[in-house]
Amino acid sequence: MDVVRYNAYGDRHDDLAAAALAGQQPVALLGLWPQFSLLNHSCAPNAINWVLPCAARAMVVRAARHIAPGEELTISYLGGPQLLPLDARREALGSAFGFECGCPRCRAEEELSPGLATLLQDTASRVAQSFSPRLKRGMASGDRQQLMEVRRQAAAMMTMVYQQLRRVQPSLREQLLSSCYSCVEAIADADTALGDDEAAAGSLGKCLKAAAAVTPGSDLHVIVASKLEEVVGRLHGEGSLQQQQAWQACVEAHVARYGQLDQARLRRLAELNRTLYV
Ligand SMILES: [Zn+2]
Repeated sequence: MDVVRYNAYGDRHDDLAAAALAGQQPVALLGLWPQFSLLNHSCAPNAINWVLPCAARAMVVRAARHIAPGEELTISYLGGPQLLPLDARREALGSAFGFECGCPRCRAEEELSPGLATLLQDTASRVAQSFSPRLKRGMASGDRQQLMEVRRQAAAMMTMVYQQLRRVQPSLREQLLSSCYSCVEAIADADTALGDDEAAAGSLGKCLKAAAAVTPGSDLHVIVASKLEEVVGRLHGEGSLQQQQAWQACVEAHVARYGQLDQARLRRLAELNRTLYV
C-alpha cells in the first residue's frame, strides 16, 4: 500500500488552460505513472510535469531550465509549500512522503544565520495567520483601508527581509525570496484589488522572479507571467518596450511548460492562464 501511496500522482484538476485549448472538461487526477515515479524531488527542480488532457493521459516531463550533462533530472513533489521556508517544506515532505530533503536549496537554507532563518519563517507565518485572512476579508468586503493596511504591513515585512538579504550572495538571494513568496503575493493581491496597476506591475514582477527561480514552467509561473503582461500592457500600452519585455517573460514561462508553440497558441494559452485561475 505504501508503494502506491508514495509513488502515485494526483492533482485537484488538469492543467486548466491546456484542457480548455484541447476542448476538454478538466477533471481531478489520480494515478500511477511507473517511469515518472522514479524521478526524485528537488525544492528547485530542473523539470516540470503535468498530465496531457487527452484520452492517453500521458505524463509530460519537460526540462524547465538548462540541464547540465550528468545533472540529475528532478521534479517537485510539493505544491504550494515549495514556496515556503525550509522548515515548512521539510514538514510537508516528511508527512506526505516520509523523507527529509537534502537538495541544494535546502542545504543552502540550512547554512543561514539563525536570525535570517527565523525571519523567513516569521514572514511566512505572519502571512498565513494574519495577512492572508485579512486580505480575503478586505477583498470580499471591498474595504480599501483594510487592503492598504495589509499591504503596508506586508511591505514592511519584506523590507526587513531585503535588508537581511543584502549580506547573502545574489544567486542564493533569489531562492530565499522564493521562500517568502506568500508575502510578495499578498502585496501583489492587495495592489491588484486596489486597482493600483503601477504598484501591481512592481509586485507581480517580484512574484514572477520568485516563481521562476524555484519553480520554472509551473502553473504558478505561467499564471503570474500572464497577469503581469496584462497589467504592463494596460499601464504602458500594447507594443511599448515594457509590454514587449513582459510578453517575452510570458513566452519563456509558457515554453518552459508547454514547449515551442506558434504565436496564436501562445497567446491563447496566456489568455486562458490569466483568466481561468482565480
Ligand atoms: Zn529541498
